[in-house]
Amino acid sequence: MTPSATSFNVVLATDGNQAWVPSELLAVDNGLRQVGNALLRYSSNATQVEDAFNRVFTTNTGTAPGLVLVVRVNTSTDLSYVSAAPDVRISFTSQGISYVDIPYEDINQGYCKAFPEGLFSGQVRPRAVICNGSLLDNYTGAAGGEVSSYTLIHELGHVFDFLTGTPVGNDINGGLSIEFGLDTFYRLEDCSMSRVMDDQSGSSDWTRGERGWGSGPAASQRDGAGAPIAPLITQFQQNPTFAQNIKTNEEILEASADMFLNWVYRVSTDLLFPPVNTCVSIPTPTPEHWIGDGFLNRSWANGTASVGTTLPGSSDATLSGDTRLFKIHTIIQGFFNSHLSW
Ligand SMILES: [Zn+2]
Repeated sequence: MTPSATSFNVVLATDGNQAWVPSELLAVDNGLRQVGNALLRYSSNATQVEDAFNRVFTTNTGTAPGLVLVVRVNTSTDLSYVSAAPDVRISFTSQGISYVDIPYEDINQGYCKAFPEGLFSGQVRPRAVICNGSLLDNYTGAAGGEVSSYTLIHELGHVFDFLTGTPVGNDINGGLSIEFGLDTFYRLEDCSMSRVMDDQSGSSDWTRGERGWGSGPAASQRDGAGAPIAPLITQFQQNPTFAQNIKTNEEILEASADMFLNWVYRVSTDLLFPPVNTCVSIPTPTPEHWIGDGFLNRSWANGTASVGTTLPGSSDATLSGDTRLFKIHTIIQGFFNSHLSW
């Protein structure tokens, strides 16, 4: 089957052990279109979703072909790259050029992993999203987990994070995650100046927060003090990793990718663009002024859900979802302001 995503500068490949199934191909195509739609709203150059996507996601450092590789694999083989976890070598062809045995490291079974472009093990390699085996999906509890549009967009969020690093075009640092506190103090507040996501003032903690996401809760279990201890994957929180009372890079990187995911869905469908700071809108909007996909003005604090169930959360009059949207919008608008070819 010819992938329908070929108008995007995206190459779909496999390791020969796990084929792309038709529903996954549809999900990938839909995910690319959603991302392209979101980016198109910011681009002053592109008129098509494919072009809007390609201008951003093929931003080239000159060290690898400007494309995004999206790969389905099924392997438990450790090729001894970096740590003891499954590794793959991927061969593919793009624009008449053959790439052979490009190595990607440490992709655990049941998970997807995103890679920046650059040099690894002596070879140049493109940006990639690689998904290994039957994906874990605590939201539906379904076996044989497939790559969904949400999964793909979360992973593309990591890719975007890498490619917006500083300096411009450098894949070493993550632009979004740096903005959200990876190497600085950062605090996101709602319309009542209460913490939504960030470093906690006066402590070394950092939290993704439990309000303002497009779905929740983020926990399937909590300890006696109500702290989440077992993350729950939901559509708009694809990796709600918690680290209690400490600031870890992983929780910031995962929250940043989920912020990108929620931004994509809301911005690509919200008729109000560009987003405004609704905290100063008169009259103050109701929390339910947005009930579509992506950032919602809802709270799942203290909530838990079993596999296969959802909780509706509660209405959040302090507009935590709008606050998240306006913040990431401001950051991404800034990236466009400094990447004039986008
Ligand atoms: Zn992730």
